[in-house]
Amino acid sequence: MVSNLVYPKTEEELRLAVANATNNKLNVKVVTKFSHIIPKLACPIATQTVQNAILISTEKYASTISVDAANMTVTADSRVSIRSLIDKVEEEELSLVTSPYWEGVTVGGIICTGAHGSSWWGNGGALHDHVIGISLIVPATASDGYAKIIRIQPQDPLLNAAKVSLGMLGVISKVTFSLEPAFKRSITYNFTSDDLIEEQVFDHAKKHEFGDIQWYPSRRTAVYRYDDRFPLSSPGDGVNDFLGFQSKAILVSQSIRSSEKSFENARNVNGKCTLASSFLGYKKLIANGLKDNLIFTGYPVVGRRGKMQPSGSSLYSSSIRIDQACSWDPRIKGPHWAKNRNVAFFDVQKKYPNFRKFVASKKQLDPQNLFPSDWSDQILFGRQVNKGDGCAIFSEDRHCSPGKGYFCLTGIVYREARVCRYSMSSVY
Ligand SMILES: Cc1cc2nc3c(=O)[nH]c(=O)nc-3n(C[C@H](O)[C@H](O)[C@H](O)COP(=O)(O)OP(=O)(O)OC[C@H]3O[C@@H](n4cnc5c(N)ncnc54)[C@H](O)[C@@H]3O)c2cc1C
Repeated sequence: MVSNLVYPKTEEELRLAVANATNNKLNVKVVTKFSHIIPKLACPIATQTVQNAILISTEKYASTISVDAANMTVTADSRVSIRSLIDKVEEEELSLVTSPYWEGVTVGGIICTGAHGSSWWGNGGALHDHVIGISLIVPATASDGYAKIIRIQPQDPLLNAAKVSLGMLGVISKVTFSLEPAFKRSITYNFTSDDLIEEQVFDHAKKHEFGDIQWYPSRRTAVYRYDDRFPLSSPGDGVNDFLGFQSKAILVSQSIRSSEKSFENARNVNGKCTLASSFLGYKKLIANGLKDNLIFTGYPVVGRRGKMQPSGSSLYSSSIRIDQACSWDPRIKGPHWAKNRNVAFFDVQKKYPNFRKFVASKKQLDPQNLFPSDWSDQILFGRQVNKGDGCAIFSEDRHCSPGKGYFCLTGIVYREARVCRYSMSSVY
């Protein structure tokens, strides 16, 4: 619980908020209007007293976007949403090469967590791969007014740490991205067999600049997305309204869940498979939400880069439609800093080769450790990680659901694993 919450509107007000925190030794965390991060990276230290922590909200912060068309760069305030950034850049006939799939994110949130789309080409598919400058507000000595703004430029060794700062180095006020001339993207989904999927991955990534693969192992199906850069002059005005990010009638979500439960209770495997199969069939029919005009009329769907990714039409559904919700409400390359659970971060130091450099930058920019959280202290400074968070440990039948026929048994594929598995013969 934190009682101090401030809403700075300018960079100077942001600096004063950090100065106040430094002077009073407060634990600082930044929150955004979306707050879509999943792990507890954004939470202050739990043991801090209510008065010893402060949240800085960027909700009312400036939202300036300055495009430098001659140098093909854009500088945006941290509160700016990825959708506003992309639209502004495209007005100038330029494009951000990549972006996350989801548009409910701010520039600051993206930079803190290494948010990404999909690409191995050029500088890569993560937005921070295209960052060339960051303004960061960091704690300072009393003679410097307890907080200062540092402008990190392309050659600065601090840039690598600041580009995926985990919200631990200071408060980001502005970010500068490199741009490319505007382009279109052409997308085709190929719903096909998952045979040889492991051999297809490299070939697929080499052939298609923004390609990805969705895998449905139980349906033995892989969906290959052929996603390529096309010239701006190519015909097509397509839109990607990704099905997973559309709002759905709560009644529909509830009835799907209730069907799943009934099939489970009746041990109706065919029913479950039919449900999964019809969902996949529906995705195929509507091309996952790709639209030429108002509907999908056939592949390939070609559209401006910013209309093909990111998406998130559920963000704009009317607040009076309380019968609708995002489908993950109530929701859920190394580990993803904004998504994975603790189990993915075991030995994280070994998963990131420059981890020590990041910790050194943290000590340089925030020597008093004003920007920690319990979560990052566990990961960075080796406090015991809570294995119970996201790591299912099955060792006895009672960890499963014996009353419903699920017992702690050996895995079918990995015999040494212990998993919760249905067994008719073990039913009490
Ligand atoms: C439905 C959904 C879909 C998603 N899809 C993708 C995807 O396609 N690709 C992907 O990579 N990720 C994806 N994510 C994860 C998402 O990109 C991250 O959670 C992202 O950080 C959210 O941004 P936000 O603006 O909501 O930031 P928040 O969640 O508010 O903040 C994230 C972290 O950054 C810190 N922070 C934010 N702003 C600042 C600042 N100005 N200064 C210092 N620290 C700051 C916060 O303290 C926090 O620790 C998805 C998440 C959801 C819920």
